[in-house]
Amino acid sequence: MPTTGAGSPRVLLRRLREIMADGSSAQTRLDKLVALIASNMVAEVCSIYLRRAGNALELFATQGLNPDAVHNTRLRSGQGLVGLVAESAEPVNLSDAPNHPRFAYRPETGEDPYKSFLGVPIVRGGQVYGVLTVQNRAARQYDEEEVEALQTVAMVLAEVVASGGLFDIAELDEPELRSDKPRMFAGDGLCEGVAIGVVVLHEPRVRVEALIADDPAAELKRLNGALDEMRGAVDAMLSSSELDLSGESREVIEAYRLFADDAGWQQKLRDAVRGGLTAEAAVERVQDELRLRLARIEDPYMREKLHDLEDLARRLQRHLSGDGVKTRELPENAILVARSMGPSELLDYGRDRLQGVILEDATMTSHVTIVASSMGIPLIGNVQGVVDSARSGDIALLDGTSGELHLRPVRDTISLFESRRAMRAQRVAEFAAVRDLPAVTKDGVRINLMINAGLLLDMPNLEISGADGVGLFRTEMQFMVGETMPRLKDQIAFYKQIVEAAGDKPVVFRTLDLGGDKILPYGRWEREENPALGWRAIRIALDRPALLRYQVRALIGASPHRVLRILLPMISDVAEFNECRALIDREIERTRLLSLPQPRQVLVGAMLEVPALMFMLPQLLRSADFVSIGSNDLMQFIFAMDRTNPRVAKRYDPLSPPALTLIRQIVHSAAEAQGDVSMCGELAGRPLEAMALIALGIRTLSMQPVNIGPIKMMIRSLDTREVSQFVEKLCGRTDHSLRTRLTAFAAERGITLK
Ligand code: PEP
Ligand code: MG
Repeated sequence: MPTTGAGSPRVLLRRLREIMADGSSAQTRLDKLVALIASNMVAEVCSIYLRRAGNALELFATQGLNPDAVHNTRLRSGQGLVGLVAESAEPVNLSDAPNHPRFAYRPETGEDPYKSFLGVPIVRGGQVYGVLTVQNRAARQYDEEEVEALQTVAMVLAEVVASGGLFDIAELDEPELRSDKPRMFAGDGLCEGVAIGVVVLHEPRVRVEALIADDPAAELKRLNGALDEMRGAVDAMLSSSELDLSGESREVIEAYRLFADDAGWQQKLRDAVRGGLTAEAAVERVQDELRLRLARIEDPYMREKLHDLEDLARRLQRHLSGDGVKTRELPENAILVARSMGPSELLDYGRDRLQGVILEDATMTSHVTIVASSMGIPLIGNVQGVVDSARSGDIALLDGTSGELHLRPVRDTISLFESRRAMRAQRVAEFAAVRDLPAVTKDGVRINLMINAGLLLDMPNLEISGADGVGLFRTEMQFMVGETMPRLKDQIAFYKQIVEAAGDKPVVFRTLDLGGDKILPYGRWEREENPALGWRAIRIALDRPALLRYQVRALIGASPHRVLRILLPMISDVAEFNECRALIDREIERTRLLSLPQPRQVLVGAMLEVPALMFMLPQLLRSADFVSIGSNDLMQFIFAMDRTNPRVAKRYDPLSPPALTLIRQIVHSAAEAQGDVSMCGELAGRPLEAMALIALGIRTLSMQPVNIGPIKMMIRSLDTREVSQFVEKLCGRTDHSLRTRLTAFAAERGITLK
């Protein structure tokens, strides 16, 4: 196809815009459109197929095929050459179409005389909406420019169709394409709470308003300007003394700059602008192509690259819109929607206006989930397709417990959610009422209730919940939310703030528990076959003792004249514990030699997460001051069940004879050695589970702050003698789960489980 004159893509796009803007019916405009494309491309046939319900592709308009076939010819996905284009999401360019194995002859269309076929997908936001084809009688291969031109037209068409600019999108009868209809999603509830608000797309799929450029030369200048600005911004990041990038984080940004400098990418963008698109539409068009190509790649490394490229395209769009890379202001009651999000990105938004978060990629142990939970923001993850369906400004309702999400809900659904929210508020009020009451059972047994924390922003929860202290402070959080490794003085300052915020309540600092699913953004990690069983936590610390030494030094530096409690994660045997303890002792000695202020006392404990350690408890307790059961890991190892794999994560119930017998044994063995045992895994924060733990003799429970109220209410309605006898008997049973029996027991005895 010539690139100048009447047949040039630029002219074609201008005419296309005129057709879209004319006031005639949708069908008339589609008919004009196919006639225009056919004449412009010197093709005898041009047809538009759009997806309808059940994934069928229906002929919506044609120039050259039998007009009676319009709205009558339907191809199932994958059927015929048109189906092949939709399925592969790639152009199909053939000089001898009837002899292609996928050619499906449809007599009603009269397409048998046409030898050559070019079909391109109508794509938007990585989703195929239909297929645009041209055909010629003569056997010929369409050249690269013709393919490009048809793809550009298809992209414009996709935008117009999806925005309802041609006809009511509901006519397509394809729920996914109807952006104004209510939709419900079932995701995973990851952070509790009910939220109602307006959607803010965290990585907004830029709504490209103007697709066709009036003045391509000026547009090219604009694109070049934005590219220069973007490169300048990445360079500034590298040379910024404030960010002070070094080592791995510098490498990440340098790699990023290489992408920004990629000549092939820039060339594609410029070609698209020269073809008549606006700079914004060109970025979208190139990105759509990339997305489709990379979406089929399984390799996680390549998929990560796609994330980088997406990020780059978004940055470029922001430079084009003149926004630079500022963080966006949120409206009141914002609900963030994104494919994925980093913990620091979430923190950037702040707590004030944020009501909830909806992510396509997030699990219980994702860093963003942990941060959202600290911020008390309801979050649901694993919500497939939400990013393509949600639009900025949509109303969204989410339930962070059940994982339910309603987009653009009808009034009845809104009232249902409002009443759920009211019920929740009532529960919160009930729990607030028990805040100052002691956690003592009916038969007078006092239980220590502690909170789990990891960020400074968790600390006010100590006061709000009325807990006795911080039973687990996950120090790795501070390492994970930053761009670079915190230095010694930053660590000291941070731990000081934590102990000061705790006042005279104890804080148990767990040393870095990295590896497994907790990966530092700036670390270079080798991929492991079984990360949960791999190089993690104390194993890293013992192989790289400087990391642990500096952390211990910082903890000591932050705790003058106080009792410092240090907890070591993933200890597998006593020798490992002793090795760490010796290292800690050396740091204490160093402080003494340098005459620095010292902690009043240093208590060192071990996390019981690896089953092997259980058999060494008496020996361990000779050198460990306390033991804390990390039930999240302990259960995954005992049941050989990956805690991050949703297929198996709930397959075995900790409320079962083996798990309860195990805990009973730990408690007995610790009691014989007169050791102090507590529990800090998720089990501790669930009322029914906590009831069983207390029955087995656990007296200190550490949990998410929101659980303190419900657990305290359960404790205050419990008689430990009765429940102990009952659970003791249950340990002898062979049920898969004891949940029903325990629930029935609680109901019978009036034990509060909320
Ligand atoms: C645990 O394993 O139970 C635990 C508390 O540690 P984490 O969840 O941080 O692995
Ligand atoms: Mg653990």
